[in-house]
Amino acid sequence: MNYRSTRDNNVIKNSKFAIANGISVEGGLFVPDEFPQIKLSELEALSKKSYKEIAKFVLAKYLSDFTKEEIDSCVDAAYTSEKFGGNDTTPLHKLNGTASVLELWHGPTCAFKDMALQILPHLMMTSAKTVLDNKKIVILVATSGDTGKAALEGFKDVEGTEIMVFYPEDGVSKIQKLQMNTQEGNNVTVCGIDGNFDNAQSGVKAIFTNTEVKDKLLENNMIFSSANSINWGRLVPQVVYYVASYCRLIKENEIKAGDKVNFVVPTGNFGNILAGYYAMKMGVPVNKLICASNANNVLTDFIKTGTYDKNRKFFTTISPSMDILISSNLERLIYDLYDKDDKKIAELMNELSANGKYTVDTSVLDKMSNLFVGGCCDDNSTKNTIDDTFKKYNYLCDTHTAVAVNVYNNYYNSTNDTTKTVIVSTASPYKFSEDVLKAIVPEFKANDEFEVIDILEKETNTKAPAQLKNLKNKEVRFKNICDKNDMQNKVLSNLNIK
Ligand SMILES: *Cc1c(COP(=O)(O)O)cnc(C)c1O
Repeated sequence: MNYRSTRDNNVIKNSKFAIANGISVEGGLFVPDEFPQIKLSELEALSKKSYKEIAKFVLAKYLSDFTKEEIDSCVDAAYTSEKFGGNDTTPLHKLNGTASVLELWHGPTCAFKDMALQILPHLMMTSAKTVLDNKKIVILVATSGDTGKAALEGFKDVEGTEIMVFYPEDGVSKIQKLQMNTQEGNNVTVCGIDGNFDNAQSGVKAIFTNTEVKDKLLENNMIFSSANSINWGRLVPQVVYYVASYCRLIKENEIKAGDKVNFVVPTGNFGNILAGYYAMKMGVPVNKLICASNANNVLTDFIKTGTYDKNRKFFTTISPSMDILISSNLERLIYDLYDKDDKKIAELMNELSANGKYTVDTSVLDKMSNLFVGGCCDDNSTKNTIDDTFKKYNYLCDTHTAVAVNVYNNYYNSTNDTTKTVIVSTASPYKFSEDVLKAIVPEFKANDEFEVIDILEKETNTKAPAQLKNLKNKEVRFKNICDKNDMQNKVLSNLNIK
């Protein structure tokens, strides 16, 4: 299996190269040259297998330059029952006659990013052995919340790696800050900076692209890499749970192999829903992919009109992981819808960076709107949905998942489509407990975030994940605030490089 760049079809690499390097030199994203097929009989057989076995099956089809032993050991290290709280890695909770919720947040950090970031470090180290000559990989992350913690948990104590996370001191929630500052592991560093997320991100970018710094690392047999969501090693593990949830529906007699299903996905960077599209291209029968956005509804408009336009007001919402105006992984979808027209994609992406907008051809818009449905909702509707869903189904969902439930309800009411539907749930309600509790008990009073968790448990008769409750008693390891102009020195001194 070869991988090409979305902006230059002449770039042809194997998966180890794609994973170790993250992005292609001219700025394009790596995509598989073809989509390996899964037969209905195979889906039927897989419905009797564990998540790990399904993961090994799917990954082997894409990572053909990995040996079977390499894939097995990456999967076995990532999806252990200790890390995912039991044997059901991705529980499917039946909501009503047509809809089920796929819970992707039973990993170490209580958000769906664990599904990819628990395995990425292993895929990366395996790739580095071959294509990076065993250099030590240094991961730099700028985060506004979920990604930083999930990357720390994924890379902690993975041999041959070092990870450093920078977050805006005043730009993440208290729980998120505690999650990061109490991080265990011998190869991790966490640093708040005295600036906003943009400062953190441009600081990291400046270090990444500084040739002097890169040379210093090379002299010490080290190299920078990135764990962000355009890396193929983060996307391919996400295809697995679409296949697995389809198999689960077969197993539970909700569908027969061959029946189509809908997937509803709360979307930010378009990585998660793109993995659903790739699963469909492999043969998972799909009716509609429903793309749910919050008030930052640039994708809703794009699916309706074919014009992507990021020139609009940016909203800070109660579903912060979806507060995004440039959905980087969309590039991979339009490359496929344009039948691999690399020149066209390069042209559209140049327009995006120059003018903040582009428009796709009508034929591409038609293909897109035959399959994708776009919908959005604001914070008020999100809270009402959390409350309604709890009252009606006794099911508690987080602020991101609630956006998906809201968009699905509107879709169902306007179409009466009774196709079995999987609503993808991306975070534990306890990760965003304050807004979730506000939705259910608007007048609650609490002294701190741990009391909020306690009240939410009592009010809803549900249990908070231990790893969030226990934060209260964990030692804070990282207390330093770093000047935003001092990030480079911090990185070098941390690596013991002069
Ligand atoms: C990252 C994230 C999303 C958005 O996923 P994309 O792959 O960027 O579309 C949604 N919900 C939560 C909780 C997240 O952490």
